[in-house]
Amino acid sequence: MRRFRMDIRRWATPADLARHLGHYDPGIALWWQRIVLHHTVVPTLAQWRGLRSMQAMANYYRNLGWPAGPHLFIAVGSPRWQDDGIWQMTALNERGIHAGICNADSVGIEVVGRYDAAPWSPRMRAVVYDVLVALQRWQRRQIHIIGHRDCNSPKSCPGRAIDLHVVRRDVAEAMQ
Ligand SMILES: [Zn+2]
Repeated sequence: MRRFRMDIRRWATPADLARHLGHYDPGIALWWQRIVLHHTVVPTLAQWRGLRSMQAMANYYRNLGWPAGPHLFIAVGSPRWQDDGIWQMTALNERGIHAGICNADSVGIEVVGRYDAAPWSPRMRAVVYDVLVALQRWQRRQIHIIGHRDCNSPKSCPGRAIDLHVVRRDVAEAMQ
């Protein structure tokens, strides 16, 4: 079986993630042409257990034969505050596996939960936006934000209740 590349880390806040990114040359992620947003569906936020969930998902992907997984998972509103935050599975400088035809040139962000019927909570939305801003500020460029559903996938990611036009507009405003 191929080795599964992972580097599990957690940042409590987008500001912590931004500080971490600041230690790295943005040139290591010049291959990012798109940011692909997802929703996990399962686990739900109620089921989210932080590191245990990350390890369980990594095992699941490894057993599928994947060499890597999505890059980041965002959990806000899980049962324990220690489990909330921005979790990394695949290092941000490495190609991940998360969106089929979009894998080669995109960074994959999973928002924990299911957002087909109802959108992100205001707290979740704020963290997702701040992460999107942090990634683009680090890269010193605007990166096109799309959904997994835009990658020729039958999945609804990041959820039918998420309007990506609004996300792109709001994040572009926040960048200024
Ligand atoms: Zn997806």
